This record gives sequence, structure tokens and C-alpha cells, in this order.
Amino acid sequence: EVERKKIFFAGPSVMPVEVLTEMSENLVDYHGQGLSMLEASHRGGMFEDMYDETLALIRQVMDIPDEYEVFFLGGGATLQFSMIPLNFLKKDGFADYADTGTWSGKAASDAKTIGTVRLAYDGASSHYTSMPDPAAFKPDSAASYLYICSNETVGGIEWPAYPETGNVPLIADMSSDFFSRPVRVKDFGMIYGGIQKNLGPAGATLLIIRKDLLESRNSGLPTYLDYGTHVSQKGLYNTPPVFAIWAVKLVLDWIVRNGGLAGMDEKARSKSSLLYDVIDNSGGFYRSPVDRRFRSRMNIVFRLATEELENELIAESKKLGMLGLKGHRSVGGLRASVYNALPEADVHALVDYMRDFQARKG
Ligand code: PMP
Repeated sequence: EVERKKIFFAGPSVMPVEVLTEMSENLVDYHGQGLSMLEASHRGGMFEDMYDETLALIRQVMDIPDEYEVFFLGGGATLQFSMIPLNFLKKDGFADYADTGTWSGKAASDAKTIGTVRLAYDGASSHYTSMPDPAAFKPDSAASYLYICSNETVGGIEWPAYPETGNVPLIADMSSDFFSRPVRVKDFGMIYGGIQKNLGPAGATLLIIRKDLLESRNSGLPTYLDYGTHVSQKGLYNTPPVFAIWAVKLVLDWIVRNGGLAGMDEKARSKSSLLYDVIDNSGGFYRSPVDRRFRSRMNIVFRLATEELENELIAESKKLGMLGLKGHRSVGGLRASVYNALPEADVHALVDYMRDFQARKG
């Protein structure tokens, strides 16, 4: 039995050990077919059977209505920052963006190179530690779409519910809380995210787009950048990341075995609460900068009184086999990412260590 590290990386990140085992058992000889999924043609039955099952599982697990297209692309979630406005920002119109931190901010700044952007919410004044009340937040009714980032991976801030946008399509980057809670897909024009946090290794972005939105897209785009190209070819216009998609399939099987999205939500709430409880009960030794109402269930961001203490905690944690606790380089501090596949026992180990560290240094 391998002794596994406790993997708190923000992405790429921890995968279910059962999935890694299953992949290694079938790596050289995929289910007795005499070749590896790493070697399979994307125009062949072995891949296509697995691909069809994966798409069907995605629809099943997320309960996606028939009027949505589901496919994968390369280029990272980052490529979507420009593909979305290229396809959906009306030439003579504008798009609404909720700027809640690093990732929605990057998306908005790419969109500005393509068309007119209105900041429907600007988190700068709260240093990106708060968000609008989703029940009261409305886009301009003339906007081409409202763009949000469901969970800001760097700032550790998450929409607890989504705004209702009426006829304005809601587009959400769910990269860092994908498949971690049930989502009413019909409220969205488009949902997308990189798979490298909750769904698999790096290498693919999953897109879910409503057909009527696709039909109204802008014309005249280069082939790859036009969503229509991919949809008309079942997502197989060019070579897809075959291996990464296989991993997604196995992670989805694992999610189903573990209670589906409701099960993932329950686990996320209990793991994140363990950490927020230690922070809140530390008498100020640990501090969460995030408005309580919007604390992320996935990326728990916290600070100590000085950077020296923070560095000490991080250095010691590595010796205890805990990886990835250093905050994003742009903001410093600490961040524990507790994605779906992170065992609850690893969170208990971190919590025990944080209490012990405070007892020694506090
Ligand atoms: N959106 C969010 C919320 C992210 O966390 C990230 C990456 N951490 C990205 C977008 C960019 O993803 P990629 O690196 O796959 O382009």
C-alpha cells in the first residue's frame, strides 16, 4: 500500500485513489482489448464507446436537459474567456460581468478586447472578499449575457446560489466547484469548467451550452473558435484529449458510487466547516478574509498574523505530508483546497495540525 500525501493543491489536484488504481490496472491493456487508451484513435470504437458513455454519464449526474449540448475542448478554461465573447457578445451590444476576483476579472478583461463590457458588480472596493446577494442581483435586461465565476479559486469566495437572469443568458465558469453540488442547469445559458479540480487530470474543458444560445451566436469566426464547429461534430472536430476524458469517465462513476452531486455537496460542506470552525474558534490566530455568507466550500483561504508564521506553518506541513497549502502567489496567505476526492481524514489531519501549531505558537 502506497502512503499517499495529503493533497490540498488548487488544481491539478487530488484524484480518487480508486480511479488512479483502475487506470493503472487498465493502462497497458484496456479491458482486454490489447491496447492502451493512450494509444487509441479518437475515430475508433474503443474510444468512441467510452466517450459516448462519458457524455451520457455527465448528462445523468448533472441532470442536463436535452436542449443542451455537452462537449470537451482543449485550451484550458482560459480559452473560454475569449470564445464566450467571440460567440455571444453582440456586435452592437454589451455583456454584463460580475467581477468577483481573479478568474472573473481575467474573463472580463479578455472580453473587453472583443466588445463592450459592463461591470454589473465590481468587487474591487471590498478587495474581492464579498459578493452581491444572488437573490437581488440582476443583469441589465439588454445585456448579451451575464458572466459569473461560480467559485473564485484564488480568493476562496463562492456564489451560494445563482442569480436569476430572466431572458438574459447566465454563463458560469464552474472550474473550481464543478460537480460539487446539484445545479439547476436550465437556469443557465452556458456552464463550463476545466476538469483538473473535481473531474480529472488537466487537459480538457467541459462545456454545456443551451441550443438556442448556440443558434444565436455570432458568425464569421475562425473554425476552432466557433462553438458551432464542435457541436456539429459531436465534440470531435479535432483530436480530443482522449486520456483525460477516460479519467473523467472513471471519476463520474466514482461520484455516482458516492451519492452523486448531493453526496459531493454534503462532503464539501462538512470538510469546509471543519476548517472554518478551527479558524473561527482560534481567537484570531487564524483569520478568514472572506464574508461568511460567501465562503467557498472548495478553497479555504486563511491568514496568520505574520508572513513568517505563515511560512513556518507551510514548511512544517510539508514535513507532515501535506501539500499545496501555500496561497496563490498573487495574494499570499494560506489556502486549503478540499475538492471532491480529498478524503475527510486528510482534513481531520490538517485541523489537528492547525490546532497543534496554534498551541505551540499562539
Ligand atoms: N477559472 C477558474 C475558476 C480557475 O480556477 C482556473 C484555473 N485555476 C481557470 C479558470 C483557468 O483554467 P485553465 O488553467 O484550465 O485555463
